[in-house]
Amino acid sequence: MNQASSRREFFKWSGGMAMGLAATSCAGSTEREAAGGTDYYGKLGVTKIINAAGTYTVLTASIMPPSVQEAIAVASKHPVRLLELQQKAGEYIARQLRCEAALVSDGAASALTLGTAACITRANQQAVLHIPTDMTGLKNEVLVQKAHRYDYDHALRNCGIKFVEVVTLDDYQKAFTANTVMAHFFNAAEGGQISREDWIRVAHQHNVPCFNDAAADVPPISRLWEYTQMGFDLVTFSGGKGMRGPQNSGLLLGRKELIEAAANNNNPFSDTVGRGMKVSKEQIVGMVAAVDWFLSQTDEGMEKEFQRRADVISDALRDIPTVKAQVFVPAVANHVPHLLIRYNQARLKISPREVAEKLRQGTPSIELNPATGSTSASAGLPTDENTIVVGVWMLQPGEATVVAQHLRQVLLEASKA
Ligand SMILES: *Cc1c(COP(=O)(O)O)cnc(C)c1O
Repeated sequence: MNQASSRREFFKWSGGMAMGLAATSCAGSTEREAAGGTDYYGKLGVTKIINAAGTYTVLTASIMPPSVQEAIAVASKHPVRLLELQQKAGEYIARQLRCEAALVSDGAASALTLGTAACITRANQQAVLHIPTDMTGLKNEVLVQKAHRYDYDHALRNCGIKFVEVVTLDDYQKAFTANTVMAHFFNAAEGGQISREDWIRVAHQHNVPCFNDAAADVPPISRLWEYTQMGFDLVTFSGGKGMRGPQNSGLLLGRKELIEAAANNNNPFSDTVGRGMKVSKEQIVGMVAAVDWFLSQTDEGMEKEFQRRADVISDALRDIPTVKAQVFVPAVANHVPHLLIRYNQARLKISPREVAEKLRQGTPSIELNPATGSTSASAGLPTDENTIVVGVWMLQPGEATVVAQHLRQVLLEASKA
């Protein structure tokens, strides 16, 4: 795809919107604008959005940087031998990320499945054919802290395992049996008494491998090697979140023996739990290019840019009665500046949820962070029914200004109601 022209188009689009023109929303004109190829969003009538939420799967997570888009376009022009590409990409990523071995997976959820399959089937090639429906003679218990049960449990259960929950360190020490196959850790869990170090130490006393799901937990960049170096045998990161690779890419990092076992459970081998999680050459190359792109960034540089975007938005709201803006950085997952906006609803007669809906219905359509107006704690963000949350890190060039203008307009209107 032609980057220069797509960037031009973006500015044309966002600039046009900023001036209040809606002309580009009609399918015909967006199709014509895409000089590098047909704009299928336009052709299909799919609404392009401004992502002021974050790396949410339902919002297609992230936009690949130009270097990643270009690497994929180049790779897509040539057939290769898939096993060679998988192996060489894995070796390259392992070197860059300072671990023994790596596998590009079909997202972090797939890495959870392949890593679990690896623990069950290592040194037992036949077992690859049997999981998850015939677990006879196979270890099938995965230890997990009760507070670490989460929405991705199914990715592990796909391998025929059952979870054994523990709460205290003492519980944990006593929970190991002849059937224990893996100890699972949810890196961004907000509860749980047992530390990463204790989790690893005790598991290794029992020769049980430890998996850490850190899918949404970069930046900081150093997390990419922190957990494998800490002793986790397997670690996953989503490729499509903070690393901005293809949405359906992920990393499984860890010990060589386990990564090889994971690969045995993967596409292209047909009779495996991983066959339906095929990773194409475009995804693999895109993931490698995203690793390169992400390592070329700095934590300070990213933080500064996200802070700048937050400032653009809060500056635009400065004179609106009762509005207070604050930048907040969640502790583990999505560890980047988010803008929290609070105001007095007696003065501005609109709720944060209503603000979110107005921006969604606007042109261009803007998605605020789903924690907006949420009464329950959400992804480490301190929200309530009086808080608007803007996730600035997935905004594209120029979009912070558009979000600022639209928020300003909606809140200003509410101040006059
Ligand atoms: C997003 C996420 C996943 C899944 O990642 P995908 O790359 O979308 O498959 C798994 N675990 C956690 C904790 C996540 O946040």
